[in-house]
Formats: sequence, C-alpha cells, structure tokens
Amino acid sequence: MILNRFPRTYILCILLSFFFCVRSAAATVSYKISLDHPEQHVFHVTMTVPNATANEAVRIPAWNALYQIRDFAYRVRDVRVAVPLAGEGREVPLHKLDKNTWEFGDGRDAVMSVGTRDLVFTYSIQWDEPGPFNSQLNPHHAFVNFAEVLMYGPARRDEDVSVEFVDVPAGWRIATALAPGQAANSFVAPSYDALVDAPVEIGKFEEFSFTEAGAPIRVVVDAKEWSRTRLEDAVKRITGYELKLMGGPPYKEYTFFFRIGPYAEVGGGGMEHANCTAISSGSIEGAVATAAHEFFHLWNVKRIRPESLEPVDYTKEQYTRALWFAEGVTSTYGAYALERSGVYTKEQWYGDLSEQITELQARPARRWQSVEESSLDAWLEKYDDYRQPDRSISYYNKGQIDGVLLDLAIRDATGNHKSLDDVMRHMNEVYALRGQFYGDSGHFHGDIGSIGVAVNDIAGRSFDEFFRRYVTGTDEIPYDKFLAIAGLELKIDSSQLSDLGFRAGRAPGLGPVVAQVTIGSAAEAAGLRKGDVLLGLNGEGLPRNIRGWLRDHHAGEIVKLRVRRDGEEKEISYALGKGSGDHYSVVESANPNERQRRIREGILHGTTD
Ligand SMILES: [Zn+2]
Repeated sequence: MILNRFPRTYILCILLSFFFCVRSAAATVSYKISLDHPEQHVFHVTMTVPNATANEAVRIPAWNALYQIRDFAYRVRDVRVAVPLAGEGREVPLHKLDKNTWEFGDGRDAVMSVGTRDLVFTYSIQWDEPGPFNSQLNPHHAFVNFAEVLMYGPARRDEDVSVEFVDVPAGWRIATALAPGQAANSFVAPSYDALVDAPVEIGKFEEFSFTEAGAPIRVVVDAKEWSRTRLEDAVKRITGYELKLMGGPPYKEYTFFFRIGPYAEVGGGGMEHANCTAISSGSIEGAVATAAHEFFHLWNVKRIRPESLEPVDYTKEQYTRALWFAEGVTSTYGAYALERSGVYTKEQWYGDLSEQITELQARPARRWQSVEESSLDAWLEKYDDYRQPDRSISYYNKGQIDGVLLDLAIRDATGNHKSLDDVMRHMNEVYALRGQFYGDSGHFHGDIGSIGVAVNDIAGRSFDEFFRRYVTGTDEIPYDKFLAIAGLELKIDSSQLSDLGFRAGRAPGLGPVVAQVTIGSAAEAAGLRKGDVLLGLNGEGLPRNIRGWLRDHHAGEIVKLRVRRDGEEKEISYALGKGSGDHYSVVESANPNERQRRIREGILHGTTD
C-alpha cells in the first residue's frame, strides 16, 4: 500500500500498533521518519514522547548548521497529536504557542487526568535543498540534518532518543555516525543535541575506509566521476597530520560524507560535527581543501568550544565573539595541514596566504569592524548588502591571518621553541579533555579572554597588545614586521587585474550567487543579474581562487558564464573589464638569517627547535 499522506484513521492505526507491539524503553523519545514518495520532497514524521504530562510542548529549531535564523517552522505541515489508549487512539487538542512551538492540551483534558501517557505527534516537513547545511529528500537520495527535520521537547532535550527510517526506497543504504538501534534502519543517541550533531545520508553511495592513528575513518562518496586514489591519498595525509598534531583521535570512528561534482557546487561547503563532516564541492581539490578545515573542527569548536555556544539555544541567535578563532584559526590549520602533509606545495601555501591578505586589504570595512565584531555579526551574513567590502570583513579571512600572525609572534617570543601548535594542544588539554568550555574572546575591562590567556601561557609573555590591536581592535596589520620574523616579505602588485563585472556572494542553500553587478559593466550589458546562481566559467567549475584566475585572463577576453535563474540554466557571454585594487604576494626574502630560516622551516613543517 502506498500512502501519499497520513489520513487520520491511518495515524490511529499506526499509534495503536506502535503502542501495543513495540516495547518502548522508558524515557526514550522516539521518531519514525517516512521516506515514502521521495519525489514529493516531504519527510513524514511520527514523534512519540513517553510519560507525557499536561502542557507537554514540542518545538522545531529556528537555526542549525549555519549561524543564520532560517525558521524551519515555515516548512512544517499538519501537526497533530494523539494519545494511544487501550482499544482506541484519541486525537487531543494542540495549541500553537509561537512560530516554532506547539503545546499539547490545556491541562484539563480527561485523557491526561488518569496519569501520564505517551503522546504521539505527527507532522510533515518539506525539504529539497542541496548541501551540508540543509536537508534533502528527492529520488536521488536523502540527506538529513535532524535539527532541521525533528522537533524536540524543550524540557526533554537530555533524554535518550531513537530514530527509525521507514519506507526507505529499494537499493538505498544508510550512512551515519550514530549508533545503530535494535530495529532495522534505526539509530540511537543519548540526547537530542547528540542526535542533531550526526547527519544521515541515505542513497546509493560508494564508500571506503581506512585506519588512522588506531581508529577507523569511513569515507562515504556520492559523485558521478571521482578518483578514489586521489581522494584517499589526500584524506589520509590530512587526517594523519592533524591527528599527530593534536595527539590522536578523540573519537571511536569518524565519517566523511563527500558529495563531489559540478552539481555539488550549488549549496557547496562543509559542515563540522563531533564525529563526522559533510562536504559538497564541485571538484576533488575543493573537497580536499574543505576536508582539511572540517577535520580540524573536531577539536577546534566541537571540543575546544567557547562557553558562549553552550548550551545551544535553538530558538534564537546565539552570539559569540570567538568565531575568528573557531573558524578563522581552523582555516589557518586547514592550510597548514594541506602544506605540512604534502597535499600543497609551499608555494601554494604562500599563494593562499597572499589571497587572504589581498582579500582583507580590499575591504574598507577592516578599518572599523574588528574580527570579534565580525564574529558577532555572523547572523547578518544572510544579507547580500552586509557582505559587501565596505560593510564587513570575514572572521574566516582575518581570523586565518591572525592565526598565522600569532604563530609568527609566538615563535619570535620563544626563539622558535613554542608555536601556535602548542596553544592548540594546551587548549585541548585544559578545556576539551577536561570537558570544559573556554571563556569567550573579548578584551573587556582588561580581560584578555581564555584564548589570550592560553597564548600568554605558551609564549611566556603578554600578548595583550596583539589582541587589543588585531582581534578586538582594527589597527592596520604591519605585515612586513610579522612576515620578517620568518624571513618573508610582502610584495604589492598594483597593476590592474581584469574584472568580471560582478561581485559573488554565497546564499544559504544555493552556494555562490551574483551579489552585485557592477553598473555600466559588460556583464550588466550582457544581462547578468543579481541573484543568478553561479554554476561555471568557460565550461569548467568556478575557479576556487578567482583572483588567481583573473591574473591569467586579461581585460577584453571573452568569458562564458553559466548561471541558473528561475530554475533554468543560461550561458552569458561578455568581455572581461578592467579592475582595480592591489594584489599582495608573500615571498621568501633573498637572504634570511639563521633565526629567520629556522622559524620559516618551523612554520612550513610544523616544527619547533
Ligand atoms: Zn568551519
């Protein structure tokens, strides 16, 4: 029998069979998710709340995966609740309290007066958005971030949960970092928070696994064309390096979910979880670069975690000043891991750092928005206008640079005996391994914050001025002074680059989009519009490094841009214009002294003296 919807009588049949046939463990909130008719993009959810009391409430989060209020409630349909009783099931009243919350009963319902009962909530929720920050159900696969699909009891987030998938299409398999439950296609977690930190991929994926530092790593791949050899080699190098750096795995098993191909560019990116990561990218190179960042998150942000992010408040914005460290310094280590493990050459690492500096220096907002303020303003990133260079800087970008500067300064202060690596290991020991959260970043009233304290402890001298100037403050960074520590220099190339005639941004669920078309540009004349989803350039995926690409393509050259607008793909062709702005390059000094050479080698190899 195939059912498109759950008619009321059918709900009661399910409730009764559930009540009589399944032995429900005490205080386990259980969910069933039906994947019936995946082409309709609707998850049908049955949530059983045991030992319910009067005025039991359920709620769907307002945000998850991105620091953006996305109000998943707008996707929720037809919420009902019933009480299963011997011989009959009875639907009972439900009140909506706010946009995210539904409350059972009014406290006077006769059904509840006989004592606490199980309550069975049913609803549907529509999702068909690609990428690691979203959920999707379509004929190709299902990807589920549980906080975007499953409601929780506000007072019961700490209780055991189980989730079972039913009506799974033939031939589809399930991959997740969750522990299996007793029933087929079921999984368990010790709390709602743990459940929602482990997404699930269901479909016809490929996979391989290997052991690194004594613990298994599982790699799940959904790609049309890919090279296992290339992906496996890079993932082994990255995980091997980072595990050695941080002293071994803090997990029993780790899972990578990769979605690779031009189709994965839309909604692309990576999302970290405690024991897994989901990554979508247009190319293996992009997927590998993202993997180096995401794997380091299993320490920095998942276990070395600011107290400002705990406990998670699913109902509204959760502010932290520490994203420059949690995200930016994670990017510092993503780039270090790629270079130190041999995936990147040192020239690629210099190139990446050069691009980061060029990006920051191209943003006038660096003069008045600190990297801590940028962290607080993460919640504004969903607005195109906020992401413009004269409005904001990126905590990823300046945070990554601040990480390198801190490393250089610590090596300078200690004669290359200590480094940022020691700070990360120290914070791992002091906070992560003791199950503590660190105090938020913020130079309030002379308080340097936990990150500053850890740096001071390792460096053996005060870094207050560094934090005051470049973390809390907006002083212009004296790059030459810092780079000279490692015998490096910054070269400025003011020759005009070519210009694409638009500025790209990222839209949640869509990936790179046109955020602004330059007025009077050839791109505008050719019909490019704000909001167009960027799919490819000159018959290939989008270049990861746009500035590097522009250096190789000159003004006047004809380009072919592939975009999607209103569900239709189009090609827009026009001539590149003339750009403006300086390009910065980090290069090695010709004659470094012995100390500079040792510090440079230390940075490149992850070593100290
Ligand atoms: Zn990240």
